[in-house]
Amino acid sequence: MSNTGLEFSWSFSAAMEFEACPRRRYWARYAAPLGRGAEAPTLYRRARQLNRLQSLAACLGTAVDRAVTGWIAAGRRGETLVYEEGYGRAAAHLNQVWRASKSGAWRDSPSGRDAGLCEHYYGRWDPAAEQAAVAEGKRRVEACLRDFLARVWPGLAAVPAAAEVPVAAMGSGRGPLEQFMYQGLRIYAIPDYVYRGGGEVVIVDWKSGGPRPEEHARQLGVYGLWARHRPDLAELPARGVLEYLAHGKQIAVPLGADVLAGIEAWIEESVAGMAAYLEEGDWRRNRPVPREEWDLAADPDVCGGCRFYELCRPELERNA
Ligand code: SF4
Repeated sequence: MSNTGLEFSWSFSAAMEFEACPRRRYWARYAAPLGRGAEAPTLYRRARQLNRLQSLAACLGTAVDRAVTGWIAAGRRGETLVYEEGYGRAAAHLNQVWRASKSGAWRDSPSGRDAGLCEHYYGRWDPAAEQAAVAEGKRRVEACLRDFLARVWPGLAAVPAAAEVPVAAMGSGRGPLEQFMYQGLRIYAIPDYVYRGGGEVVIVDWKSGGPRPEEHARQLGVYGLWARHRPDLAELPARGVLEYLAHGKQIAVPLGADVLAGIEAWIEESVAGMAAYLEEGDWRRNRPVPREEWDLAADPDVCGGCRFYELCRPELERNA
């Protein structure tokens, strides 16, 4: 165990965070958990607070997801899906985050769960840029939701309720998040939607941002491994479907044995990279090396959108 008392675990998003910047992983996974409580050292408390910042793009994705999840539940109750209802759910989420972010109220959120936007916190928008971002965000949410209703939902609506595979996602009320063990390592993998059909398991993931097929195919590959480790799905061949809602585009992702073997190799490589920043390279003990030894982002452009910029700024400026 680490000095945070946390188990080392792996997920696709953790791998992406680490690939972008090892130091970001340090702040999020090792410093922030130590920042709980007024007596915690200031640096850790700052890391904990900044860890609740998110980008507008991430916030838009969550808003779209809330709308779609609500629609699927309504569809299963036999209700007709209404665009305005879905949009209302998305807008409610966006408005809540926006208000808390703009006013700074997210910092004092009693539950510590409210998020702020990086763009507000770091003053990355002037008034014109903020207005343009709002207009573009609204346009994107509308495009995603209209595409889901017109192009994706008809296919999902035809899936019998009994063929749906329940997925324990954050806030789903279905218990611990979806996960599996691989070589003693806990891996979290939470697909958007899964069903059985035609003798196979179909794993669907929707995206509100731009197509990044290679990266997203890896994500679905991790979900393919999750299906292979889940007793009720293990016997079925799997295939993946990426739905790019803002672009009205679907991409099929093969998840055969050769693909999954490649994903396993990638996970092992990713874990080895993370373990290189742990004492004795031992992820089971999960004790981080000192902060200064965690490399900063190789691409300085990455820092421009990072929630932890404030903590790295002195070092980045020294290195400039
Ligand atoms: S500010 Fe840059 S170096 Fe620091 S955590 Fe973020 S991406 Fe990494």
